[in-house]
Amino acid sequence: MPDYKYSTLAVHAGQHPDPLTGAVNVPVYLSSTFELTGIGTDRGWDYSRAGNPTRDRLEAALAALEGGSSGHAFTSGMAAISALVAMLRAGDHIVCSSDVYAGTVRLFDQIVSGYGIEIEYVDTSDLKAVETAIKPNTKLVHIETPSNPLMVLTDIAAVSRIARARGVEVSVDNTFMSPVLQSPLELGADIVMHSTTKYLNGHSDGLGGALIGSKPEHKDRFLLVQKAAGAVMSPFECFLVLRGIKTLPLRIRQHEENGRAVAEFLAKHPKISKLAYPGLKTHPQYDLAVKQQKGFGSMMSFELKSRDEAARFLKAVKIFLNAESLGGVESLASHSATTTHGSVSEETRQRMGINEGRMRLSVGIEDKEDLIADLDQALAAV
Ligand SMILES: *Cc1c(COP(=O)(O)O)cnc(C)c1O
Repeated sequence: MPDYKYSTLAVHAGQHPDPLTGAVNVPVYLSSTFELTGIGTDRGWDYSRAGNPTRDRLEAALAALEGGSSGHAFTSGMAAISALVAMLRAGDHIVCSSDVYAGTVRLFDQIVSGYGIEIEYVDTSDLKAVETAIKPNTKLVHIETPSNPLMVLTDIAAVSRIARARGVEVSVDNTFMSPVLQSPLELGADIVMHSTTKYLNGHSDGLGGALIGSKPEHKDRFLLVQKAAGAVMSPFECFLVLRGIKTLPLRIRQHEENGRAVAEFLAKHPKISKLAYPGLKTHPQYDLAVKQQKGFGSMMSFELKSRDEAARFLKAVKIFLNAESLGGVESLASHSATTTHGSVSEETRQRMGINEGRMRLSVGIEDKEDLIADLDQALAAV
């Protein structure tokens, strides 16, 4: 691809017309196997687990959007994180953000640690703590920024510098920002991970995950994991993500505009406290957000006084849906303590600062005045 600007890349990277028919959309190649041209020769594909033409196009688009050298699509975000650590061995050590997606903790603590891989959770917003946590057997530093639901930032460039000096790779879960608003590879990270279920698909109609590597060895490693472990995204899901990607920059602009407007409204509302949104000057890491992000996104959270108030709020909202997940066109509100952090112990939640009144919003692309009016009437009912 020539050096196109972002919105052009989103529409065209990986999405050139079909060479056979001229179809402007990438065809969905629903074929498990491909006719070979001889013994040991083929047209580029032999079996869909190893490679599928629709998946190839999505993977090319993902690599272009993150400025990586290869993209790899998986059945879900969790399958992508599983693939990320699949080549680690007993005795290896992972340093992971403590304030990370709860599903990542479940995977690491209940499955990966059983393979003899040690996982250490660290507040990665504290660079000293990252430095101290890296040991001779550390193979990966996995960070998520901003974090869920408290929107705490980790300095990707600084962590990457620390890790690189010790020969350790850094992976970044970039789901909350999308490739439009944050480019971890540019900041020095080695691997980017996405749950494409969120902004990349953008329409809440499919599960998927991705890894984007920056070196040829990542391509070899993740191709092997795709072929050997097999959790590859189906051609139809690939098509949905490709379709979502075309409008990603456009959607993100609207998410951003609405996110800022909603945050400014909430910041002044007397019934809420502890609003966490990196786009507000009152956010303790506002300067870092400006430095490493290209925008502030549309994820935020705030506190109501109790679980009871949270329940009344969720009953009263009309446009915002009481649902988990994020990054779709529709606005969602969710009660952190019983959804994303439902599997986390009460004690840990207290330590993290997630109380029973904590509400998370994923602000969609509806009209911002309608969204604010909806929140206003729901807060009046609290
Ligand atoms: C949703 C999510 C995941 C997991 O992705 P799935 O597609 O649900 O498996 C991982 N990380 C973050 C930040 C997420 O929001």
